This record gives sequence, C-alpha cells and structure tokens, in this order.
Amino acid sequence: MSTVTSTNPYTGETIATYKTHTKKEITELLEKADERFYSWRETSFAARKKLMIAAASELKKNTEEYAKTISEEVGKPITQAISEVEKCAWVCEYYADQAEKQTANEIIKTDAHKSYVSYEPMGVVLAVMPWNYPFWQVFRFAAPALMAGNIGVLKHASNVFGSALLIEKVFQRAGFPKNCFTTLLVGSDKIEEIIENPIIKAVTLTGSGPAGSAVAAVAGENIKKTVLELGGNNALVVMEDCDMETTVDICVQARYQNTGQSCIAGKRLLVAESIAKEFTEILVKKVRELKSGDPSDEATYIGTLAREDLAKDIEEQVKASVKAGAKLELGGKRQNAYFEPTIVSGVTPKMPVFNEETFGPALSITTFKDADEAIELSNNSKFGLGVSIFTKDIDAAEKMAYRFDEGAVFINELVKSDPRLPFGGIKDSGYGRELSQHGIREFMNRKTIYIN
Ligand code: NAP
Repeated sequence: MSTVTSTNPYTGETIATYKTHTKKEITELLEKADERFYSWRETSFAARKKLMIAAASELKKNTEEYAKTISEEVGKPITQAISEVEKCAWVCEYYADQAEKQTANEIIKTDAHKSYVSYEPMGVVLAVMPWNYPFWQVFRFAAPALMAGNIGVLKHASNVFGSALLIEKVFQRAGFPKNCFTTLLVGSDKIEEIIENPIIKAVTLTGSGPAGSAVAAVAGENIKKTVLELGGNNALVVMEDCDMETTVDICVQARYQNTGQSCIAGKRLLVAESIAKEFTEILVKKVRELKSGDPSDEATYIGTLAREDLAKDIEEQVKASVKAGAKLELGGKRQNAYFEPTIVSGVTPKMPVFNEETFGPALSITTFKDADEAIELSNNSKFGLGVSIFTKDIDAAEKMAYRFDEGAVFINELVKSDPRLPFGGIKDSGYGRELSQHGIREFMNRKTIYIN
C-alpha cells in the first residue's frame, strides 16, 4: 500500500495522508465507469442539464468549503480560491445550457436523400490535471465531457488529492448517477497502465511539456486521442500609445494573480523603448503595493507558491538572469515556499526569465523599437498559448494579430479563459481546444450518416 501526503505550503503542516488506489481498485473503478457509460449516454439532455445545474448550485452553496481546501493545499489567497469555485459554477451552467445545441446533428447537403454528422460521446475519458487551479482545470474538462454523454476519470496532481476528492463529491451531491465521475488517487507512475486499459477512450492533460509528451506517447501507441494544454510564456506587448495607468493595472493582474502560477499569465513584458522608463516606475510602485501574507486572510493578494521546490526554481531563474546582466527592479528573495513579487528589467532573449516559463510572481521587462521587433520578440518562444497587446490603435493591433504564433490574441486585456471561447495553444503549448463548442466536440465521434 502506498500513501501520498499533502502539505500546506504556507504553514508547512501536513493536511492529510491519502491511501492511493491499488491496481485492483483501479481496474474495478474503470470497469464501473465503463458500465455507467452505456446508461449515461442514453440519458436525455434535459436530465443531464438538470444534474449539471445542480452541480453549479452545489458549488455556489458550499463555495467556502471548496475554496478553503484549495487555499490550504496550494497556498492560494482565499478570495482567489472563491473566484475559482464560482467560475466552475459558471462553466457548469454554460454547458448545461449550450451542450444540446453544440452537439446537434449537422445537416450537410450531398447527393444523398439526407446526410449529416451525428456527434456522439466516446466513452470514458481520462483527465490528468495540474494543481494550479485545482477545481477550474477539472471542471472545464468535466462539464462539457459529462454533458456530451462521456464519463470522466480524474488523475489529479499529487499535492491536491483533497480537492480531487471534493470534486467527486460535488457530482455526488448534485445527484449524478454513481461512477459518472471518478477520482483515482494515483501517482503519475500508474498513468501508463491506465491509458493502456481499453476502457479509456481518450486522454486530456493539462500540465508541463514533459508530462504532456509522456502521456501523448502512451496514448499514441494505443491509438487514443489526446488534448494537451501545456505551458505558456505569454508576452504583454505594450505599445507607445497605450493608456498607461490601465495597462499597468492589467499587466499586474496578468502576471501576479494566482501568485503567478498560471499557464496564461503574462510573463514577458515587452514595452516600447520610448515609454519604458515611466512605465516601469509606475509598475514597480503598483507591484510593491501588492499584499503578501496568509492565504486565508481576505486581504492577501500574493500567497505562497504551491510547493517549496517551485519557489526555489523561480529564485534560480531570477538569479541566473541577474547574473547574466538583468537589473533587479523589485523583489527576488525567497522564504520557504514564498517568493517575493519580482520585476527584472534589461532582459534579453538569452536569459532564463525570457526563454523559460517562470511559474511564479516574477515579471521580465524587455524593450522594443517598433511593432516588427515587438512581434519578433513575442514569437521568440517555444510556447504559443497567448499574447496581449496594449494600444489605442485597435485597427493596427487587429492587423498585427495574425502575425503572432499563438492560440489567442487579446487586445487591451489579459489573456483569460471564458467558457464561451475556445482555449488552447500551438507549438509547445499543446494542441486541441477546451471550452466553447470546440471543446465539447473534442471528445465526440463525428459520425457520418448517409441516407440514399
Ligand atoms: P506537471 O508536473 O506536468 O503535472 C501535471 C499532471 O501531470 C499531474 O497530475 C502530474 O501528476 C502528471 N504528471 C507529471 N509527470 C507525468 C508523467 N511523466 N507522466 C504522466 N503524468 C505526469 O505540471 P504542474 O507542475 O502540475 O503544472 C504546471 C504546468 O502546467 C506549467 O507548465 C503550466 O504552464 C501548465 N499548465 C497549463 C495550462 C494550460 O491550460 N495550457 C493550465 C495550467 C497549467 P503528479 O502530480 O502525480 O506528478
């Protein structure tokens, strides 16, 4: 028998120790999930909708309970954990309302008397998920999957097993039939045999590149579809004519919310040379005002990182960049799992804070002379998740948009996920899309029906 212990990164105290599922238990749970699929796919959209609305109500009713666990497990400030739970309710309501329309038959005119595409669920889908938004990452998979008639099996990150079990509870409390959604308490060493099980029809993974390629390799060998939502190194492109105060505020939020641990965070600030000095001064002042502290305190904006090793990683990236010539404008110090909100300027593409993903509260600043150079710098990344452009010239920005190698371009806004819009990346940020109609159709068989 093996166990996994979760630790509160702020207090250093043990939260709980979980017994992981044995090989036999995993097999039994997968068999039950498969069995459930055959009845679940026959349920009406009206019945599924009622249950998904009940899941949203449950999240709204017991928000504090769920948020508290999130906050304790990953050091997330409590107000941000509450927002995360509320956003999960939104995605449940969105798909409860939209799924039937989004997966309706698509009539296509051909030589046939009638021909169309029928969207049908695939079966049991495995979700391998990260700790940074322990509820949101799972719900943005689970809500469309269940509404489509699929069954969800979750392998969550090993430091958030409490959240993983609570998510299973949300669906139980909402009244979903047993085994529609199952949490497996397993380490990543068990994933290969789970994917190889014929019951698993497809896999979605949100996480790092190495995890993504390991999972996709096994799925590929077994001819199973994957969706990969991986890392990002988004640029915040600040043009000379931006609205300075508003842009600073959005950039601060883009980088420092969730204590910088977001795939779509703006990690590389690219600013027009002519305004760089003034922009940096305002930025440093605002970031200095961000309140660090106890994640359970409602006034806290910056919590700890989810684990001490993650704080050490970002400390090293900043140190190495400063050694290579970057200027430390603010922060840079670490205490256990806490890393100060940090800003480094004079950053070049050769430095770690530019060419690696920084998963914490450190922002790099690089200047550019013109739009061409800004686009070149932004594209100078192995990732391609998203970019933000700040300017008053919307027409010019819209024309620039197609030149960015990204899954999303946001003008005068931080890159954010919204249930109504597709979400995902290109290059090393992965492939496939979550959310919107594009997301729900990823794990559906597009069956061609031809009637002569
Ligand atoms: P991670 O270490 O890759 O873990 C993610 C999940 O994959 C966990 O459940 C983990 O399980 C599992 N895993 C790790 N190595 C594996 C392997 N070799 N084979 C199979 N499964 C494996 O990532 P993380 O540190 O939790 O999250 C941070 C990364 O996720 C960042 O790069 C971030 O940008 C990315 N991310 C992307 C998105 C997006 O939507 N594009 C969203 C959020 C985060 P264990 O915990 O048991 O190891």
